[in-house]
Amino acid sequence: MQNIDWGSLPFGYYPTNYNVRCYYRNGEWGELEYCSETTINIHMAATCLHYGQEAFEGLKAHRGVDGKVRIFRLDENAKRLQSSCDGICMPRFPMEKFEEAMIKCVQLNKDFIPTYESGASLYLRPLIIGTGARVGVKPADEYLFIVFATPVGPYFKGGFQANPYVITRKYDRSAPLGTGIYKVGGNYAASLRAHVEACHGGQYACEFYLDAKEKKYIDEAGAANFFAVKDNTYITPQSTSILPSITNKSLMQIAETLGMKVERRPVAEEELSTFEEAGACGTAAVISPISRIDDPETGKSYQFGDGTPGPWSRKLYKKLRGIQTGLEKDEFGWNTIVEI
Ligand SMILES: *Cc1c(COP(=O)(O)O)cnc(C)c1O
Repeated sequence: MQNIDWGSLPFGYYPTNYNVRCYYRNGEWGELEYCSETTINIHMAATCLHYGQEAFEGLKAHRGVDGKVRIFRLDENAKRLQSSCDGICMPRFPMEKFEEAMIKCVQLNKDFIPTYESGASLYLRPLIIGTGARVGVKPADEYLFIVFATPVGPYFKGGFQANPYVITRKYDRSAPLGTGIYKVGGNYAASLRAHVEACHGGQYACEFYLDAKEKKYIDEAGAANFFAVKDNTYITPQSTSILPSITNKSLMQIAETLGMKVERRPVAEEELSTFEEAGACGTAAVISPISRIDDPETGKSYQFGDGTPGPWSRKLYKKLRGIQTGLEKDEFGWNTIVEI
């Protein structure tokens, strides 16, 4: 085990020993390769560089209270990556190969799996890029899959906290029939300006997008889904431009077992004023509670509770983190235990 101050790591890149790679050539995916290089050598006409043929995933391995190492819902990430591949005309990466690559990547970097006590975890970042050379706009004939691992610190260093968010009306993240439902780099390039303008003043945690067509409904935050709670009901937007978050999907299942009702439907901005609790959810933080959402262009502001995480948000967070770290029974069979 490395001598690292796990608890003070940021959500950033920290070098580890190995990454796992796989090449697609002549119409098929090859064998997994284990690599200690951190750079890649690709053709300057590769489609990922010109036409954004790139998709990625993000998932975590947690060291549990019992010392076991668990990867959370890796089958869901494998499926979502396949869907992203379909969405931008890349060959699907096989489910079993994905699973094997994740497990191998954790095992090869076992010295970088943070301690349970630190609250930190080992983040896995798989990606696929089009590497075949093209000048005209068409899909590549060659691809590269890579997964690397990097330890990331606990999201809430000073405990579970609520933050203010801001609605951006000036920019859209994705169109109703665009690529918002796929985890592709192009969506992020399209969101950087909104993110920098909205959040780099330091006042807000993240920007929120409304639906691009009517600017009436809540879509999601820059890299996290939105959920809210009222009358013991978990409410999350339904839209054709939201990325289907695995954390959100898990929270919906947990909410039901905790006795909540679950509604997935369009959420108009005005409805924000009726919510008792609100949060952003995703792999990085599980739940990032929202204290307030401002809409500077209309001058409206929506406050949730007393500005601290609400009771349902706390319960949902505790249960999901508990399942990931072995404190709670894995009743849904979400974890893959990695032999270290
Ligand atoms: C990755 C991502 C999320 C969160 O998904 P999880 O599977 O919960 O990590 C939400 N929104 C966007 C735009 C994303 O890229």
